Amino acid sequence: MSEELALLNRISDELNKDLDPDKMLRRVLNLTVAHFAASTGSIMLFDQDDRVSSYILQQEDLSRERASRIVGKVLTEGFAGWMFTHGQGDVIHDTHLDSRWVVYDKQPYDVRSVIGMPLRRRQRVIGILTLVHDEAHRFTEQNLSLLNAIAGQAAIALENARLFKQTEQERSKLSAIINSTQDAVLVTTPENHALLLNPAAQEMLQIEGRDWQDKPLTELTKNPDLLKLLLPDVPTNGEVTLPNGRTMWASVTHIPDLDKVTVLRDISPYKELDRMKRNFVVAFTHDLRTPLATVKGYVDLVRMDGALTELQEEDLTGIVKAANSMKSLVEDLLELSRLEQLTELIRETIDLEDIIQASLNYMRSAAKAKRIELTAEEITLGLRVEGNSVLLTRAISNFLDNAIKYTPRQGKIRLKLLRNNNQAYISVADNGPGIASKDLPRVFEKFFRARAEVDEDVPGTGLGLSIVKTIADQHHGQVWVESQPNMGSTFTLTLPLVS
Ligand code: ADP
Repeated sequence: MSEELALLNRISDELNKDLDPDKMLRRVLNLTVAHFAASTGSIMLFDQDDRVSSYILQQEDLSRERASRIVGKVLTEGFAGWMFTHGQGDVIHDTHLDSRWVVYDKQPYDVRSVIGMPLRRRQRVIGILTLVHDEAHRFTEQNLSLLNAIAGQAAIALENARLFKQTEQERSKLSAIINSTQDAVLVTTPENHALLLNPAAQEMLQIEGRDWQDKPLTELTKNPDLLKLLLPDVPTNGEVTLPNGRTMWASVTHIPDLDKVTVLRDISPYKELDRMKRNFVVAFTHDLRTPLATVKGYVDLVRMDGALTELQEEDLTGIVKAANSMKSLVEDLLELSRLEQLTELIRETIDLEDIIQASLNYMRSAAKAKRIELTAEEITLGLRVEGNSVLLTRAISNFLDNAIKYTPRQGKIRLKLLRNNNQAYISVADNGPGIASKDLPRVFEKFFRARAEVDEDVPGTGLGLSIVKTIADQHHGQVWVESQPNMGSTFTLTLPLVS
């Protein structure tokens, strides 16, 4: 018994020495053959598809080519085939008397007794260990339990080696990707110590060598944008301006209880393009204002010139309508550009109830004209935010304006102001036509009009909700819509409350 324990200990040592399965199993095989005083032995391993992936022979007395031919056969027939299908080991006391033993052509030595055991992992046979002897009755059923213990250890070691190899491969793939990416990648501890900086991040922070490891980020950079992003409880996305004038877009991912991964992408070319586009839009729309006013002036002049036929009056009405919708577009575009370029907002502490009342007062007559019931349903008092009252009134009026525009006559609109933790929720719900689910993600996009063909007669530029979204961003708030066709829509704006 103590001899068996000693053998198992030695085998366990051998298995722990190496992660190369072939080397590891060859040593185990040598020890086992010696212990059982067998003539020789072999270990076959199978892959995921039960094909033989490796055939380790204690004595290299079979050519690889012959071995693979035999292996092809033994898995469907013979003793190995029997162990594979039964998932258990057994002893052949005399090969001459056991039909499971098949002699293949030109076997270099005579085999009279055999003991074999499958290597199992999670109900699967992943290999087979076989010992042979040239004399009959050299193995007993009692030997099976020791062989089973050896096969069990080998199977665990094989699985560990496979998992280790897989993890290593994943790790080296990942580090190749991280090191070759153009984006700067920073991995930091929850205390903001540097764990990993890829070459792009080192270049960005102008750090050479591996001097950064485990250092607090505050020692590695003084960039206020970057340091602010890594503070707890701040938005996890934002722009980071570098000393060389370039702008990076940073997104921080928190891995629970572990590290923070910050990826920074250079967006300077897009910023420049955006700036050029905005300047162009501002200049262009600004210049359109004067000719538009002139068109409307001429329409008034034509009317003053004398009596018009019904048809002429109709044409002039068409011109005025077109000029008005162009004017709205110009004004919305100018407003959006102005808002997007705002770097500093004039802020004050605002009681949201005042904003709600002001917006309701603006929109009441439009609702009345369509006989729409407009009510402030649940209004939580005393909710205060830091912000710009003109812009916030504009945002809520815009929600109400849309609700009135798109809801048919005699519809209902409900406005609510609620509190949830440290956020104010302002929502406008109507019982209008609703919005198709495919359009929902797009309604806050510039120029997007969901039902352009149906709403042909509803004036609009597709910019109103983009303006609301920009106002929400300026206030660190959020906007979204919930809607179902024919069931109405609910637009919500949330704003952080003043503590
Ligand atoms: P618009 O000037 O066209 O109203 P918005 O940006 O304000 O532009 O809205 C974008 C689109 O979202 C609208 O064209 C409309 O299709 C849809 N929409 C907005 N509000 C509502 C609403 N209350 N009910 C149904 N559809 C709406």
